[in-house]
Amino acid sequence: TQEFSVSNQNPIHGKMGRVPVGIGRRRMRIVVTGGAGFVGSHLVDKLIGRGDEVIVIDNFFTGRKENVVHHFGNPRFELIRHDVVEPILLEVDQIYHLACPASPVHYKYNPVKTIKTNVMGTLNMLGLAKRVGARFLLTSTSEVYGDPLQHPQKETYWGNVNPIGERSCYDEGKRTAETLTMDYHRGDGVEVRIARIFNTYGPRMCLDDGRVVSNFVAQAIRKQPMTVYGDGKQTRSFQYVSDLVDGLVALMEGEHIGPFNLGNPGEFTMLELAEVVKDTIDPSATIEYKPNTADDPHMRKPDISKAKELLNWKPKIPLREGLPLMVNDFRNRILNEDEGKGA
Ligand code: NAD
Ligand code: UDP
Ligand code: UDP
Repeated sequence: TQEFSVSNQNPIHGKMGRVPVGIGRRRMRIVVTGGAGFVGSHLVDKLIGRGDEVIVIDNFFTGRKENVVHHFGNPRFELIRHDVVEPILLEVDQIYHLACPASPVHYKYNPVKTIKTNVMGTLNMLGLAKRVGARFLLTSTSEVYGDPLQHPQKETYWGNVNPIGERSCYDEGKRTAETLTMDYHRGDGVEVRIARIFNTYGPRMCLDDGRVVSNFVAQAIRKQPMTVYGDGKQTRSFQYVSDLVDGLVALMEGEHIGPFNLGNPGEFTMLELAEVVKDTIDPSATIEYKPNTADDPHMRKPDISKAKELLNWKPKIPLREGLPLMVNDFRNRILNEDEGKGA
């Protein structure tokens, strides 16, 4: 089929570019690992939309073909079922490296696999970047700050991370991925970029991935109580996905390595978030308290002055505007699920 065409038929080397796209820019060939996932698929939409060629590499652990199916048949789009833990040969200009489960439920499911994905997967993509002279962007995470002792978190903060806890496969995996990225830059001159992403939400999040926004929204739609873990006073800062995608592209195209915090500084307790979901979806929605998970960070809020200054980026969509934008997508998928069950 068209979407599984062979990638190496027309090799080009990094930065040489080929077909002109508009004025002053050549069409690029861009790999997005994890491109069938939540964030990756929105990034793919933007890159295809501006005229570039996109190769998605995904093993479909948490990603879905449905997230990119609208590009099938487009000759500028390819989808490769591949695990980044294994090497791969491609000829590309840029690599957005997103492949890694992001929700705690998914990354704790097989912690050793999560570490392999972060370490071996990142190593392979950096090896690829080195071989073809491509620019490489790592999507790291606010979790590198652990349960932070500094608030809000600046990029200069080194974090407070438990190396032997249930979250360590992800936190420490991403910290090692950042280290590898900087070592390939210093040692091999690979052009790199590092984003530290804070909690992001939007359409196409997995329905049952256990993240708080997807849980509350799905629960409110299903008329189930919203599950608040612990006392609900812990805080997070929620960024709408299109703001993140704009930030990732600004970072890739800019001249600064980072790391850069990409997040929305608006800070909410989980109880406040439940209120916003209630106002948005169902005024009769209720909450139910559940025990909290281990090592849950008490608070999290990005300091984004660096990205504002050097990338000229800031998020535009506050939580109360972003939440309604994901409700239709969730409603439709929940409806389809129910129909599938014969309800
Ligand atoms: P997601 O789970 O929706 O997407 C991850 C994608 O990677 C999926 O399509 C999955 O199938 C794929 N994948 C996982 N392991 C793979 C492997 N070994 N080989 C190939 N593909 C693999 O998660 P997301 O929210 O879209 O997150 C994307 C990236 O952003 C991740 O690296 C994550 O750590 C980072 N991030 C996300 C958030 C957030 O709030 N969404 C916050 C911080 C960091
Ligand atoms: N690699 C890859 N694709 C490439 C180039 C390298 O998957 O186009 C992998 C390679 O198999 C290795 C890793 O990236 O596992 C690191 O490559 P590098 O050349 O830096 O190290 P070496 O191969 O010398 O260990
Ligand atoms: N949380 C919650 N109810 C849920 C899911 C999560 O209260 O149904 C809380 C969780 O304890 C954490 C916060 O929401 O304090 C964010 O959790 P999430 O898993 O979304 O992301 P994290 O920032 O922990 O990676």
